Amino acid sequence: MEIAKRTENGSGQCVHLCRPPPAPDLPMQHRGADSGYNALAPPRAYPAPSLPPAPSRLLPSDLPAPHPPCPGSAAVRSPGSRFASSLRVLCSPPRRSAVFWRPWIDDGGEKEQEAPHNAVEAVPLKQGRSLMDWIRLTKSGKDLTGLKGRLIEVTEEELKKHNKKDDCWICIRGFVYNVSPYMEYHPGGEDELMRAAGSDGTDLFDQVHRWVNYESMLKECLVGRMAMKPALPKGMLPQSQVTDTLAKEGPSSPSYDWFQTDSLVTIVIYTKQKDINLDSVIVDHRDDSFRAETVIKDYSYLVHVALSHEIQEDFSVLVVENVGKIEIVLKKKENTSWKCLGHPQENHNSFIPKKDTGLFYRKCQLVSKEDVTHDTKLFCLMLPPSTHLEVPVGQHVYLRLPITGTEIVKPYTPVCDSLFSEFKEPVLPNNIYIYFLIKIYPAGFFTPELDQLQIGDYVSVSNPEGNFIISQLQELEDLFLLAAGTGFTPMVKVLNYALTNIPSLRKVKLMFFNKTEDDIIWRSQLEKLAFKDKRFEVEFVLSAPTSEWSGKQGYISPALLSEFLKRRSDTSKVLICLCGPTPFTEQGMKMLHDLNFSKDEIHSFTA
Ligand code: FAD
Ligand code: NAD
Repeated sequence: MEIAKRTENGSGQCVHLCRPPPAPDLPMQHRGADSGYNALAPPRAYPAPSLPPAPSRLLPSDLPAPHPPCPGSAAVRSPGSRFASSLRVLCSPPRRSAVFWRPWIDDGGEKEQEAPHNAVEAVPLKQGRSLMDWIRLTKSGKDLTGLKGRLIEVTEEELKKHNKKDDCWICIRGFVYNVSPYMEYHPGGEDELMRAAGSDGTDLFDQVHRWVNYESMLKECLVGRMAMKPALPKGMLPQSQVTDTLAKEGPSSPSYDWFQTDSLVTIVIYTKQKDINLDSVIVDHRDDSFRAETVIKDYSYLVHVALSHEIQEDFSVLVVENVGKIEIVLKKKENTSWKCLGHPQENHNSFIPKKDTGLFYRKCQLVSKEDVTHDTKLFCLMLPPSTHLEVPVGQHVYLRLPITGTEIVKPYTPVCDSLFSEFKEPVLPNNIYIYFLIKIYPAGFFTPELDQLQIGDYVSVSNPEGNFIISQLQELEDLFLLAAGTGFTPMVKVLNYALTNIPSLRKVKLMFFNKTEDDIIWRSQLEKLAFKDKRFEVEFVLSAPTSEWSGKQGYISPALLSEFLKRRSDTSKVLICLCGPTPFTEQGMKMLHDLNFSKDEIHSFTA
């Protein structure tokens, strides 16, 4: 038998972790005793969850999931998602909110010369109500739940009763928090929090910042978890509702199989999609746990097993685009025949909406940090040896650091190491490094901590997120990039990708808004690129220039935009990307609509 047929792999891409992959068409000596999910140990029956007896303080992750995953099922939801639907009747209809569970904006912070960061959304917090103050309160030993450390099971009826500011319980992903003590510290304001009072706030929370690490921030407010609903009649899958939804709306579920030779084990994921790429799959191998997450549109397919035998650190990932097949080739530590691939782990073989999956993090090492401007630095992080992760163009990740004992998370957009990296052969394999351009705010909460990291220190990096779709660039003629400050970061990969991969591209124009000349990130690289590639033009606009500045001045305005955004013809395919402080993006969007650009012609980068 052969490792998955590779005759069709004309467009196959391969990435090597440490060593090259095996030669194609390796003769197979053995196949696993069985294949696919059945090749694993038989699915374990998960015990009905029960609350832990100990009344000690626990993180939700310490508690058994309110709705345990069912290995082998085609669609398994995350714990909270079922609650989200079962309790949806209790919630006000979900509406988009820009501020529900917004991350902290400390009013006591250093004021910028211009309108404050996220000024449109900010709800001023009272003195002594900053994130740091909240962390201090949670560490004070004060009983924040009113339950003296007990954890309880909460029924829907009970949850509903706690719907007032001074007695406010909210359920997120099946866990119930008493958020009354937190009200005054919530950057989005009390009213936003009250929208979910006495009900399931998962949807509202996910709409805005599903990445906010509420488990850590609210751990002292944990009341308990939602009580299970009565069991469904035998033979009826609790996930049937999801399966139905998937069948109607989502892509069809991928499947997997595995094969072995004396020295290799190959896991093959059949995605049933054509537009699969190396950045569609994220692989993490740690101890004996092997995790491969494949992202297909808004869904995530997970192969998650505890391997039955040890493997070497390096593995390779191959994608056969035209048949939508992914091969992950693992090297056995010992040349023995594996009877099974391993044992299923949480959400193994599940295909669920991405929004219902938690963010997965791995620890990355800081390998270099260099000044780019007076306040912005290029950070280079190295992925662990047994990780395959490529952040898709236009997407961001979350960085997580413990700050005074609380895990704090903020989003950042990976860039290339320079604007020219795609045009030259990389000296080092670039798939193990992730670069970030990060502005350090002296009065900020997270970035000063990042800045304190020493070479060799670790920071956790999540799986990618974001709604930019690379196909938006296909057949494009004119690409306009409107960036303000570090809002330049998503433009870096978009610019590189467009110039390298879009043959139809006629022009890329970047309008880059900054306060002063000193704030312009990679100015000389941008000017060199414009000199080298005639399709690219850059224009700098300063909002607080010195008297020597002879270029454009001011904030984003209809006059600036109408002069800048000249499309070749009425029918030419155009995309305008915007990113910067929230007021910049919001004003820009409105101006673009007024200039008659359609929704499909505009992409704004947000969290
Ligand atoms: P914060 O504590 O949030 O404060 C930031 C600044 O605002 C400080 O100067 C502070 O004093 C001031 N401030 C805070 N609140 C107020 C207030 N109410 N009034 C007046 N001033 C106030 N940033 C990058 O540098 N690079 C990136 O690649 C990047 N990518 C991002 C991607 C996404 C999707 C998003 C949403 C954001 C991205 N950011 C990026 C921004 C980043 O996530 C952080 O917001 C930023 O680093 C600031 O974090 P901080 O905790 O250090 O500062
Ligand atoms: P900054 O304060 O240095 O301002 C840069 C420019 O933005 C200014 O010169 C001005 O032209 C414009 N601007 C600022 N405030 C404005 C306002 N109130 N109205 C109109 N225009 C305004 O910017 P910064 O400190 O570098 O902040 C960059 C912002 O971009 C942050 O808010 C960050 O969160 C955001 N960002 C978002 C993403 C994303 O993907 N969503 C990625 C990176 C950065």
